[in-house]
Amino acid sequence: MAEDTDPARPRREDSKFENDPRACRSVCTLGPSSSSPEAIEKLIEAGMNVARLNFSHGTHETHRELVGEIRAASKRTNRPVAIMQDLQGHKVRLGHADAATRIILRQGDEVLISHGEEITAERLGIDYPGVERFVKAGHRVFLDDAKIELEVIACSKGELQCEVRKGAEIYSRKGVIFPDSELEFPILNNKDLEDARFGAALGLDMIAMSFVRSADEIGKMRENLESWGKKDTFIVAKIEDGAGIQNLDEILKATNAVLIARGDLGVTLPREKVPGIQESIISQANALGIPSITATQMLESMIDHPQPTRAEVNDVYSAVLDGSHAIMLSAETAMGKYPVESVEEMDRIAREAELEFNRRNRGAHTPVAGMEGINDLLAASAVIFAEYMNADCILGFSIEGTTHRALSTASPTVPVYGVLVDHSNLRRLLLHRGLSLTTMPREKKLDNLVPHALKKLRDDGIVSSGDRVIIVARQPEPEANESFLLKLSILS
Ligand code: ATP
Ligand code: MG
Ligand code: MG
Repeated sequence: MAEDTDPARPRREDSKFENDPRACRSVCTLGPSSSSPEAIEKLIEAGMNVARLNFSHGTHETHRELVGEIRAASKRTNRPVAIMQDLQGHKVRLGHADAATRIILRQGDEVLISHGEEITAERLGIDYPGVERFVKAGHRVFLDDAKIELEVIACSKGELQCEVRKGAEIYSRKGVIFPDSELEFPILNNKDLEDARFGAALGLDMIAMSFVRSADEIGKMRENLESWGKKDTFIVAKIEDGAGIQNLDEILKATNAVLIARGDLGVTLPREKVPGIQESIISQANALGIPSITATQMLESMIDHPQPTRAEVNDVYSAVLDGSHAIMLSAETAMGKYPVESVEEMDRIAREAELEFNRRNRGAHTPVAGMEGINDLLAASAVIFAEYMNADCILGFSIEGTTHRALSTASPTVPVYGVLVDHSNLRRLLLHRGLSLTTMPREKKLDNLVPHALKKLRDDGIVSSGDRVIIVARQPEPEANESFLLKLSILS
């Protein structure tokens, strides 16, 4: 613990503060198109803040390797990246296809569904035994976010005989939804528990739980995490069906972040309901100070094309303007032809939307209703103060990240530069909008740290003479139980 107060003293180099940071965070799914060290490095440079590993695909070995590559690329580029483990949840999946042959289902074809690990054009193996107990003739089956639709013609012991109503090419491990049937699922399945334990041992930064139905499921996962010594794991609840919507209030209270899984939402519910659901989840999450991630098909056409459609550009823009803390790419970066271009495109659209977001919010801030804690009020005051003072940025200090979270929730219209001590606490904040974060060694007194941080802002090219910086922190003082700091610094 250094006590040196000389800001000129050279210090251990931590990641640079971002110049001209994008407020909205960018989540990218890694897969075959984005697993090499070079590809990961390019995604980070293009703006990836969180790497998502989908545990419905790949193996523990491929994931372990990827984690090593992401951590190494983050070091090389000197940019923080969080790793989000996405658990399969109670989603039925297809088995594996023989990689050498393409399987195309065509309208009118007949195909069988049964429990098994292989898929061919005649028989689709799924990872759910005894599905015929819950399915009747006439029920529909959707494959791969409903790109393919089947109708069940007859059920017999161990298999479903189906006819293809809407055909397309079919790939390994794609999702299978039975929209007309009520399948039974345990609260937490063994695969998710094993995967979560594996992720906890690897020190992954966030766990996303798929198809969350109730707060109880999150509570059960926390109990398990606690037994592995990871009680405080950052949990992301993926809302993917009617049960998740029904119990949204309690889920939002139990989770650290929420993900709007539009792919499955648009299959399990009428897809025209998804835009309204998206807006409503984002605003409820913002009211509670929980980051929301808008996900799936954001730049879908970029899987095969170097440019998105105009409608996709509109979609990303609206998601940012509506107040999403983060936007996510799925197949675009996992298996698409243009992973880096997709991240760059998203970055450009988000920045444009943020100009409008700031225009609308500037001067319109009031403390968020329901946020009556000192940290929240202090953060809201800092944002309002920054706007009145025409400040260039806010500089926040925190050990656990409470101050930074509150600043993010207050919807700042100027960049917030946040200092932390610990890298893993920093990575927990990488889904929060509006924060550009770094770590600096801990000092005994905040007064010693502030000049170092201001110097770093200057050295990193963020501020210069005459600039106005609002400083926010919780500051322990000997004569007070607690004390808080809100200060304007006009740089010499
Ligand atoms: P979810 O409902 O969890 O989003 P998904 O099947 O839609 O599941 P995504 O994470 O959206 O999966 O990724 C899109 C596609 O990219 C996957 O369906 C899969 O084909 C491919 N993919 C993703 N991750 C991997 C991986 N680790 N290994 C191989 N392919 C992957
Ligand atoms: Mg999903
Ligand atoms: Mg998906």
